[in-house]
Amino acid sequence: MYSKDKIKDLVQQSPVLNQIINTEAISWLNPNLKPFKNTPKYDLNLNDMREAEQLWKRFAPFFVKAFPETEKTNGFLESPLREIRGMQSVLSKDAVPIQGRLFLKCDNELPISGSIKARGGFFEIMKYAESLALKAGMLKHNEDYSIFTSPRFKAFFSQYSIGVGSTGNLGLSIGIISAKLGFKVTVYVSADAKEWKKDLLREKGAAVVEFAGDFSEAISAGRKRTQLDSNAYFVDDEDSKDLFLGYSVGALRIAEQLEEQQIKVDAIHPLFVYSPCGVGGSPGGTAFGLKQIYGDHVHCFFIEPTHCPAVLTGLVTGEMSGISVQDIGLDNKTEADGLAVGRPSHFATAISKDLISGIFTIEDEVLFTLLAELKDSENIFLEPSATAGLIGPQRMQESGYAQIHQLHLKNATHVAWATGGLLVPLEQRELFYKRGCKSLA
Ligand SMILES: *Cc1c(COP(=O)(O)O)cnc(C)c1O
Repeated sequence: MYSKDKIKDLVQQSPVLNQIINTEAISWLNPNLKPFKNTPKYDLNLNDMREAEQLWKRFAPFFVKAFPETEKTNGFLESPLREIRGMQSVLSKDAVPIQGRLFLKCDNELPISGSIKARGGFFEIMKYAESLALKAGMLKHNEDYSIFTSPRFKAFFSQYSIGVGSTGNLGLSIGIISAKLGFKVTVYVSADAKEWKKDLLREKGAAVVEFAGDFSEAISAGRKRTQLDSNAYFVDDEDSKDLFLGYSVGALRIAEQLEEQQIKVDAIHPLFVYSPCGVGGSPGGTAFGLKQIYGDHVHCFFIEPTHCPAVLTGLVTGEMSGISVQDIGLDNKTEADGLAVGRPSHFATAISKDLISGIFTIEDEVLFTLLAELKDSENIFLEPSATAGLIGPQRMQESGYAQIHQLHLKNATHVAWATGGLLVPLEQRELFYKRGCKSLA
């Protein structure tokens, strides 16, 4: 716990903490950002990312058979990268015009679980399932992985349990794939989890255990209970290397898509990527991956709600995952359930500290106006959490970042990472949209 005196010391060291405590919407540039060649060796590298991508390829025949919606892409799960000119002009009317081109990475359209959590969550479960099957001698090298849908495999996996703590979307990804493989799966959800996400989880065959507390509490409780069972495996969103690695594969994919669309990324064509941030795993993983590919030519920013700036608080104070937003007096309450996280990831934040260019905080109401504007201008629906990246280009331009780093913005490519939306039920969509329209009026 943090005493009043300790907080006072921290504020004295970093005055910006005062604005964070006052839930102001701020733009923070990372003073610790390192030139890529000066970054330390991490536990993971480009080779690990390529191996992770191979695991996805091995499982493609499983997806085709288990999830027929992936048949048309041969079991390959990917989302489009779309240029959003209409939204770019809408945004440019309200504030400084956006220089360069604006794109949306549409992970809201990722098949099966409809959020970026499919990247990390599916990957971690596939890797675990593969390792169990190999150890049991059930799987040969070069085997067709559609065998994972066989009754024999399902019976085998039913001896094992999987646990995960979640505000909703991670639980959905882990729950859906684990149940499909035959695992017993329990999702420990925080109070922020939406009713429809819990219902959907139960429908897919997962057990749902609800906690009155926030995400960190759901994780701690889930971790403890899962560890009581020796045949159980816990997917730890506060510390998982495999989740992080799964997210980083998204960088390889977007790099291919940029190349297909003939978009250059180099010293005079900077790439800016803006990611909504909860615990910091998904934005950290994609930022790490992008840095491995583009080094100093890519600039990664996170966006957090003003009431739950977990990663920002960890980085600004230097306390990392040792501090939570509750420790500085914030309530950790937001409508953006995917971002309702009070304490940052231990594993991811240690890496993001050197690699990310900055963090912007956003008020809830803005998430809804962005949601409505995007729907009107592009006919794309996102869940509230997923819209946060859209404030990125203008915040970055206003922050002076481009001047400091002498970047040519007229050649800039901006990517807002849209992190979820596909599974949101129609009634919810309408409520979100109406709320946004009301704020705009
Ligand atoms: C989980 C989530 C995020 C943030 O990912 P973290 O790994 O928690 O930082 C962003 N948007 C949506 C829709 C999410 O579900």
